[in-house]
Amino acid sequence: MDWQSRLREKIRNIPDFPKLGILFKDITPLVRDPATLRLAVHHLIHPFVGAPITAVAGMEARGFIFGSLAAWELGVGFIPLRKPGKLPYDVQSVSYALEYGENTLEAHIDACGPGDRVLLVDDLLATGGTARASCELVERLGAEVYALAFVIELDELGGRQRLSPYPVHSLLHF
Ligand code: 5GP
Repeated sequence: MDWQSRLREKIRNIPDFPKLGILFKDITPLVRDPATLRLAVHHLIHPFVGAPITAVAGMEARGFIFGSLAAWELGVGFIPLRKPGKLPYDVQSVSYALEYGENTLEAHIDACGPGDRVLLVDDLLATGGTARASCELVERLGAEVYALAFVIELDELGGRQRLSPYPVHSLLHF
């Protein structure tokens, strides 16, 4: 079996979560298995080995899992992008629209800055709203977005188009 099929086998579809009509992709079986966890992180960072990245930023909460492992493998530090009110020091915030309502992401004002080239990592790219806001947050801090990497991309939701012209790397397409 090829590596992508091995990863796909460990992604569980949960109907009607977190609300009716949504088919949620559950990555917990993938990260529970040491072989597929390693495989996913290996392929996430593969295009960026040797690239001039200075930090990895991960979106709360599943982006923390893959993002911190990616940072470890690339030999750089990790920046948590968090939901409002969670970070203890001074923050920069970006709000973005959801289908119903609004979300906010925050980063510490000294998390990155001019001269930094940041790889953004999350488990899944859907509409791209979260990722787009994350790019804006990193740029407001004065850093450059080097690229974005996802384990899963839901092709029909237009996330990749919304993130243009940032380079997007995804392991699995659904
Ligand atoms: P977007 O902002 O691109 O519409 O949604 C992506 C964000 O929502 C990511 O942070 C991702 O973790 C979360 N998300 C949305 N749908 C799913 C899903 O089916 N499975 C998982 N694991 N995360 C999802």
